[in-house]
Amino acid sequence: MDRRSFLHYALGATGLALINASFDRSPYREPSKVLIVGAGVAGLFAGYLLQQKGIDFEIIEGAARYGGRLKKLEGFADYTLDLGAAWLHGHRSIVGKIARKNQVAYTEDQSDLVYWHQGKLLKVLPRTVKDLIYAYPVAKECSLLEYASKQGFDESYKYILEALAGDYGAGASELSVLSTRKEEHNWSSGNRDFRFEASYFDLIDQHIVPAVRSKIRLNSRIVSVDYTLGKPQIIDQQGKSYRGDKVLLCVPITVLQQKDIRFIPAIDAQKQAAFEAIPMGPGLKVFLKFKQSFYHQNIVGGSVCAAYADACVGKKGKDKVLMAFIMGEQAARLSDLPESKIVEALVAELDNMYQGKASRWLEKAHVENWTKQPLIKGAYSYSSKGIANARFLAAKSVDQKLFFAGEAMHSDGHHQTVHGAVESAIESVDEILKQLAH
Ligand SMILES: Cc1cc2nc3c(=O)[nH]c(=O)nc-3n(C[C@H](O)[C@H](O)[C@H](O)COP(=O)(O)OP(=O)(O)OC[C@H]3O[C@@H](n4cnc5c(N)ncnc54)[C@H](O)[C@@H]3O)c2cc1C
Repeated sequence: MDRRSFLHYALGATGLALINASFDRSPYREPSKVLIVGAGVAGLFAGYLLQQKGIDFEIIEGAARYGGRLKKLEGFADYTLDLGAAWLHGHRSIVGKIARKNQVAYTEDQSDLVYWHQGKLLKVLPRTVKDLIYAYPVAKECSLLEYASKQGFDESYKYILEALAGDYGAGASELSVLSTRKEEHNWSSGNRDFRFEASYFDLIDQHIVPAVRSKIRLNSRIVSVDYTLGKPQIIDQQGKSYRGDKVLLCVPITVLQQKDIRFIPAIDAQKQAAFEAIPMGPGLKVFLKFKQSFYHQNIVGGSVCAAYADACVGKKGKDKVLMAFIMGEQAARLSDLPESKIVEALVAELDNMYQGKASRWLEKAHVENWTKQPLIKGAYSYSSKGIANARFLAAKSVDQKLFFAGEAMHSDGHHQTVHGAVESAIESVDEILKQLAH
């Protein structure tokens, strides 16, 4: 089981055509330099593509590490844990292609699933919730919670719905059924999910980063972008400035919404409104290591955490680690608590499900609270009521000088994924290259 296994996908045209179509060699205005802000996967991949075309660039990252929402934890278990992205959603994606080309080991996630429903662990629910997104007719905008209630799902489904919405990084009262359904129809990377034997971070670190490592500047948080000048200038929190021909912003949507970067002149109201119309909710992953396994591979429907998953799936190791995947309103509730209280609440819930075995076998825990990371501030973007074409407007370039990439900028259904972030970088670099060409 994984975040999308509730659903079946309609298969559409592949976005991978992008990478093949756009990068034929052509002469560029020299010397040209692109400043990339943010060393998450979008920024790193943009640099990788520019490197291939011989265009100068720098990747300027505010944190002390690169990778953004790709991050690994070593030493906690006898295998590497994925603290951010873990699943390859569809092997037809650009990332699947990179993995196969480089013979990176990954396996399909075929883990089993139980539901916590009315105080029991069930293999099958009386009614299936996945059809709410995929099958029933939807005429107008409504949230998943509203829609479920219209379809007669009672209160006992509350946390099953939270798990479904949490897959999309949202609470059930926030997720738009109509937009999410449209996005699912555009999804084109394949309907199976995979886990990397090493980690998602390692894939990028070993096969993309080596080409750009010397161009990454860490600990340089950009606070302003001045594009009134012929060559835009960007300045970090310590006053260090960088000059280039184009600026490609690959920061999380929360950073643009909260105006952490000052644009000179200010971004126009319509574009700022588009940033603000793309929600990104809170999110945490908590890893619970146990001396003995007593749990199912996926447990859906808890009131503290609606989705637990066995972190060992796809890994070569023996340690027993259960991951609590906490999104939406559950993440909002837990996020401000001390880590010890978060762990306590999860263990109490598992004790209730498994007759006290969680507290008996708990060895240690790790809490990764993405909401509290100052340069991320949440999990990933989702679509709420009224999002309309905000992603498209947000991603549009400004004055041929500012460009935008990152998962939230993907308008064709692959937002909130690693491969969506990569595809958005491909599109932006393609546009930059066309402008730099004679
Ligand atoms: C808990 C969790 C689980 C997930 N699970 C999956 C999964 O299983 N599969 C999947 O495909 N996707 C998953 N995702 C989503 C995936 O991780 C993201 O979509 C993707 O990594 C986003 O990449 P990005 O480059 O757009 O943004 P980011 O990775 O957020 O990179 C943005 C970078 O910008 C930097 N930055 C911010 N502000 C500034 C500034 N002012 N100056 C300089 N730098 C700045 C940040 O530090 C960061 O490094 C998950 C995400 C989370 C949080």
